[in-house]
Amino acid sequence: MILNTTAETMTASEKELIQSQKLQKLVERCYKKIYFYQQRIDALNINYTSITHIHDISKLPFTTANDLAINYPFGLLTMPINGVARFEQTTDFHKVIGFTIQDLAWQKEMIARTLFACHINAASILLELPEPFPSSGARSLQQTAENLGIAVIVSHESDDQSCLKKILDFGVTTLFATPNKLLAFADFLQKQNIAKHDIPLINIICEAHHCPANLRDTLMDKFQVPVYTLYGHPDIMCLGIAGECYQQKGLHIQDDHFYPEIINPHDGKILDDGQPGELVLTTLSREATPLLRYRTDETAILTHEHCPCGRTSARLTLVP
Ligand SMILES: [Zn+2]
Repeated sequence: MILNTTAETMTASEKELIQSQKLQKLVERCYKKIYFYQQRIDALNINYTSITHIHDISKLPFTTANDLAINYPFGLLTMPINGVARFEQTTDFHKVIGFTIQDLAWQKEMIARTLFACHINAASILLELPEPFPSSGARSLQQTAENLGIAVIVSHESDDQSCLKKILDFGVTTLFATPNKLLAFADFLQKQNIAKHDIPLINIICEAHHCPANLRDTLMDKFQVPVYTLYGHPDIMCLGIAGECYQQKGLHIQDDHFYPEIINPHDGKILDDGQPGELVLTTLSREATPLLRYRTDETAILTHEHCPCGRTSARLTLVP
């Protein structure tokens, strides 16, 4: 089932039009509201009004993690601080990104698209395997799931024994956790001699900044249920940028909101589909802290071939 058929099954020409319109507005907003981008665009001798088509994106400057750090905390903000609904600091505390109410609403829809795409719905019962320091991704997923009518088990107990008890007591069908937490929990289940048929688990959502396909496959091997990757990047949006569908043929990028490119990390040249390189993302819709061509430092492969699930978005495969 597809949550937003208009957005998720666009033809190539419809998508090109939407992306071009969004990029044009984005560049204008970045130029007029963010001094950092004004300087970068001027340094390249680009007239921002000449950026009219999504293919013009290659003329724009990259943004790096260091750019985020030197602009901490408000250098990339397009609005007064009270227009922002949430600030998220990255784990190293030298970078921050902001979200308006609208940005957060879009994020929830993007997460919901992936939940639908991997058949997690109101019949599911969801438990997060908690980390010592809960991520904002976990909070966003919880809110999204609740809005979709999915029963979410919220608890402050974080030890593995308590999690197992909750899985059995509540008939938990879906786990949500980071790859490392899932690996540790799989080992715990093995030590307890708990097999797949002993627990009601149907599927797992893996919260991933970096969960390459081989790690996902290891997790599926250990749990013997489908493990779906829900991708986010702490410097851009911690969860929901892309996610797997039930076909598991790469992560569908929400490319009406994020424009993906794969570049050669050494010379910055754009690579063709199928070639591994550095993933670069542009936040086409972001209101509070938009990012032009953000270099993720992640290696990935891109394809624009249509997925058998019916979604037409570009798909991403993360490379170890
Ligand atoms: Zn698909």
